Amino acid sequence: MTPIVDLRSDTVTQPTADMRIAMAAAPLGDDVFGDDPSVNTLQEKIAALLGFEAALFVSSGTQSNLCAILSHCQRGDEYIVGQFAHCYRWEGGGAAVFGSVQPQPLQHQVDGTLSLEDIEAAIKPDDAHFARTRLLALENTLGGKLLPFEYLQQATQLAKSKGLATHLDGARLFNAATAQAAVTGTDVRKEARRIAGCFDSVSVCLSKGLGAPVGSVLCGSREFIATAHRIRKMAGGGMRQAGVLAAAGTYALDYHVDRLAQDHILARRLAEGLADVPALQVEAPQTNILFVDLVGSAKSRSVDLLHYLKTNGILATGLYRLRFVTHLDVDVAGIDRAIAAITRFFEA
Ligand SMILES: *Cc1c(COP(=O)(O)O)cnc(C)c1O
Repeated sequence: MTPIVDLRSDTVTQPTADMRIAMAAAPLGDDVFGDDPSVNTLQEKIAALLGFEAALFVSSGTQSNLCAILSHCQRGDEYIVGQFAHCYRWEGGGAAVFGSVQPQPLQHQVDGTLSLEDIEAAIKPDDAHFARTRLLALENTLGGKLLPFEYLQQATQLAKSKGLATHLDGARLFNAATAQAAVTGTDVRKEARRIAGCFDSVSVCLSKGLGAPVGSVLCGSREFIATAHRIRKMAGGGMRQAGVLAAAGTYALDYHVDRLAQDHILARRLAEGLADVPALQVEAPQTNILFVDLVGSAKSRSVDLLHYLKTNGILATGLYRLRFVTHLDVDVAGIDRAIAAITRFFEA
């Protein structure tokens, strides 16, 4: 049987054989007592890598963003965030539900940024009518788009000049850093640190392109992480011998950062392979996520296409637009099978 080509998300990866060996060998302890050496190693490693004082291993990106927003904001505060940001749109409204923190969503520009004018206009004056604007939350990459580094500097400087804290949902920070390093010609880790350095706190998913089975890390000052640690406890996120999972994250940081460039190459290969299909409008991918729109008479055919692909062993999603995500369990042969199947569908 030919293997399934699963392009639904970079979360679907299985831990590699060597990652499993690292997990099996991890020294463990009770992390609620702070006793798990493998959790501590991961937290120290990511904090040092991104230039922060401290870090916290959490169960998911959603829990990480929740801990971050509730650490930066109190009840009755608000955070400025993009309409399509994960920590506004895709997390069940958690900050509002659990923290009584209201979002102030803003429309994105075409490049994924929030305009500086919009951000400034959304910051409420100190007046009893308004929620207190406390935080600017950005996301990079956003829908696979790399936010320009100069923009990150400007937006976070604006926020700081207005007394706002800044949080980066860097679920795919290392994909952003990989794309940025390809432009600047420098090192991926250096670019990750430059991006992270613009923010007071940064969340990174280990379970996406980095290929760990579970977990995210939240980075910030020692004081911020102490607050986040308390909120993680309230959210039920105090895990015990979590080092078996953290060891996968440490392994991923050591061995899976430099290979992200391969995922970006495969996304481009898919885009190029579909460029000549008349029914499709293909957005040039900047990282590992490719969005494709059906155009003209094909517009209504996305459900049929996804079904056809599934019967051919190829999985993708299409909630807003067709989305194909590359990752460490996809190879050139899989991408070429996807191109062939999509092309066949529209020729039939
Ligand atoms: C996936 C994702 C999250 C949430 O991560 P989970 O581990 O699925 O909760 C947060 N932000 C962004 C940008 C993501 O892509």
